[in-house]
Amino acid sequence: MKLNNKFICIVLPLIILPILLVGFNAYQYLYQNSKTKALFVMHSQLDHVQQQLLQELRLVQANLQLLASDTQVQQYALTEDEYNRIGIYQPAVLKRFHKYHLAHPNYLEIRFVLPDGFQESYWSAPLHYQGDKDEAQSVWLKTLKHSNLKTIKELYLDQQPLLKAYQELRIKNQATEGYHDEKQLRGYLAVTVQLNWLLEAMKDRSSEQGQLMALMHSNGSQAVGNSKLEPKIRQVLAQYITDSSAALNSQHASAEISIDQESYFISSRKVWGEYFLVAMIPKAQVNMAAQKLSSGLIFITLSVIAITLILIMLVLRNTVVKPLQLLSLASKKIGEGQLDTKLNLGTSFEFKELSTSFNLMSDKLKKSAQEIQFMAYHDSLTRLPNRRMFQYLLSNNLASAKRKKETLALLFLDLDNFKTINDDLGHEVGDLLLKSFAARISTTLREEDTIGKDDVTQDLDLVSRLGGDEFTVVLPHLHNHVDASVVAQRIIKAMQTVFKIENHQFYVSTSIGIAMYPADALDIEGLVKCADIAMYNAKNAGRNTYKFYMQSMNVAIINRVKHESELHTAIEKKQLILHFQPQVNIQSKGFYGVEALVRWMHPQRGLIPPNDFITLAEETGMILELGKWVLFESCRKAKAWAELGVSNFKVSVNVSSVQFQRQDVTKLVAQALQESQLAAEFLTLEITESVLMSAEDSNRQTLLDIKKMGVSLAIDDFGTGYSSLSFLRQFPVDTLKIDRAFIVQSNREPEVRAIISAIITMAHALKLTVVAEGVESESELEFLISSDCDYVQGYYYSKPLSEDKFLEFYKKEMVNTQGGSNIQ
Ligand code: C2E
Ligand code: CA
Ligand code: CA
Repeated sequence: MKLNNKFICIVLPLIILPILLVGFNAYQYLYQNSKTKALFVMHSQLDHVQQQLLQELRLVQANLQLLASDTQVQQYALTEDEYNRIGIYQPAVLKRFHKYHLAHPNYLEIRFVLPDGFQESYWSAPLHYQGDKDEAQSVWLKTLKHSNLKTIKELYLDQQPLLKAYQELRIKNQATEGYHDEKQLRGYLAVTVQLNWLLEAMKDRSSEQGQLMALMHSNGSQAVGNSKLEPKIRQVLAQYITDSSAALNSQHASAEISIDQESYFISSRKVWGEYFLVAMIPKAQVNMAAQKLSSGLIFITLSVIAITLILIMLVLRNTVVKPLQLLSLASKKIGEGQLDTKLNLGTSFEFKELSTSFNLMSDKLKKSAQEIQFMAYHDSLTRLPNRRMFQYLLSNNLASAKRKKETLALLFLDLDNFKTINDDLGHEVGDLLLKSFAARISTTLREEDTIGKDDVTQDLDLVSRLGGDEFTVVLPHLHNHVDASVVAQRIIKAMQTVFKIENHQFYVSTSIGIAMYPADALDIEGLVKCADIAMYNAKNAGRNTYKFYMQSMNVAIINRVKHESELHTAIEKKQLILHFQPQVNIQSKGFYGVEALVRWMHPQRGLIPPNDFITLAEETGMILELGKWVLFESCRKAKAWAELGVSNFKVSVNVSSVQFQRQDVTKLVAQALQESQLAAEFLTLEITESVLMSAEDSNRQTLLDIKKMGVSLAIDDFGTGYSSLSFLRQFPVDTLKIDRAFIVQSNREPEVRAIISAIITMAHALKLTVVAEGVESESELEFLISSDCDYVQGYYYSKPLSEDKFLEFYKKEMVNTQGGSNIQ
């Protein structure tokens, strides 16, 4: 349901119901009012007519009385002699009668009837006489004769309603009769009164009201009314009179009856005897006024509803619906991505608030959409364009360079030794370094626009991060190669400033490969490949330098790929061998142990040193297979030597940090010991500081587990990383191996000697034994002896040896130092 309609459904009843209630009450009031009024009119008419009738009657009776006491009438009645009576007295009586008629024109007849019923003196209005001279048999005479009544009145109710009144005339003849004689009946006086006024009165007073008024006998036999009284109506009226005669005492009694399914209010008055006045009003008539009002009321109600509806619609439209429509429209627009849609819903407080919130939301949405958009095309760490954006920008620049026939350079940058920093100092520091590095390149590019070009507006977007420590710089609109080399040099120079990250300070160099459009390649893919190759070449050339792409570089890359697949074969086909470099106790000069060092017996190239393939093995993950082999093989050899009688020694095995990341080293060591049956105390694992400093806590647990097995742990190349001695305390390490770089410098640099001595002292304080690596000369040895170093490993005693050579060395040494060996 639409909001409009819902609102109407709620509001309309609230308005209509009271109106209907008021209307209903008003109707009720009006109806009652008009009923009361109609009934009142009816009653007063009845009363009026009744009074008139009774007055007429009283008047007639008074006149009869007057006539009866008239001397001439009396004289006439007393005269017994018929001749005298008629001859002398009758004319005066008739005259008297005529006089009465003149006074009362509706007295149609005035008569004198003898006691035997003979009508003797008679006056009638012109054209009226209808009578019979002998009235001996008439009802009135009989009634008067046989009752005590002195007067009788009769009504004749037809077209001409008549009232007939009769009165005895009893008089004493004073002349002949004594005081005690009874008055003698001398005759009867009769008057016939025309009641035409009655018809008029009934007609006048009730026709306009649509009422019926009638004078009738209670049995319905006679009746006159203001309209034609059909027998059926007479019957109903008669019935009413009979039924209600008990209630007739009450003047204003009225009732409701129905004739032919029409209702009437009815009321009656007794006139006299069995004669009644009845009046009737159709109920519909009474209702009419109320109905008139009610139709007016309905009209008003409907008008009010209509007006209210229109008003509500208007108000709703302007205050609710319209703003809501605007809101939904705006939301739709937002949904369609038009995020700068703004809303203004007018000045009302709520809508103002809503508008503000909506606009705030759209602003935020727009911002986050922009952010999302930005993130999709930018690297979240450095906020530089990402690979996708780089490709887009490069393709644009390429298209433009093609159009304008310009030269463009693509620089491929890779941080030198980033992996070491990441491994040693953790990813957090690594990330911060990448950020600073990115910022430094960007500012370097922006600082001077000597890139050769006028248009440097897109400077920032020229730098992208492809991932890891790989960055690119696109240099459009170049004159020649030199422009590109200037930029590369500037970047390399910028790296000469120290990076300060958290508490660390270090120098980072970068190797840059440069590919030129259109000289080296024409499309993105080609340019990226060339720049990548050039970058590898820069790395091979000792890092911290830049190289332009040259066709010949491809060969190097091809070699690397070849190398990679060869290393696979090497591991598979067991082309790897182990050499062992002895370690000697510095004090006793006795044999302490060996370090197992891997070599690659290349079928064509001969023996390849580990530095040429370990990094490749680590990068490709082949180190996992390789490391496993070295560990197992070292344990096997050591066991074999122990069985040959080489006693009390340790075999040290190098374990790469990659292995800790990706292998269960604990399990591997356990398996190697189990398989070779070598006692754990014969084995030492050499790990780098990066293993300790890796953010992963699991490494610590692994080391603890290994230690628990009885295997020793040595920190290799100590001093090249960034760990401190106090940091080492957290780990179950047994031995420190001071890096060869320190030993080499110990001859020349007194500070280095101080450092070495300090390391040894502190290591001893931490209950660590110290191995000095790369000891080549007597003087170095002397210094180490004086510094209280524990063991030495280096060319001074021996280079890494094949197994056979090592066993020879062992025999010889043992002979020298301990006067013999057990080896057979
Ligand atoms: P490292 O662990 O520091 O091994 C010692 C290296 O120093 C060996 O080089 C050894 O020949 C050399 N060295 C020892 N004494 C002297 C000396 O007096 N003068 C000079 N100039 N050098 C000396 P190598 O065998 O070429 O091994 C190089 C590196 O290769 C090793 O350095 C180690 O990091 C890695 N490596 C060797 N074998 C393995 C292996 O099995 N697994 C792993 N993960 N890395 C290995
Ligand atoms: Ca080592
Ligand atoms: Ca070492």
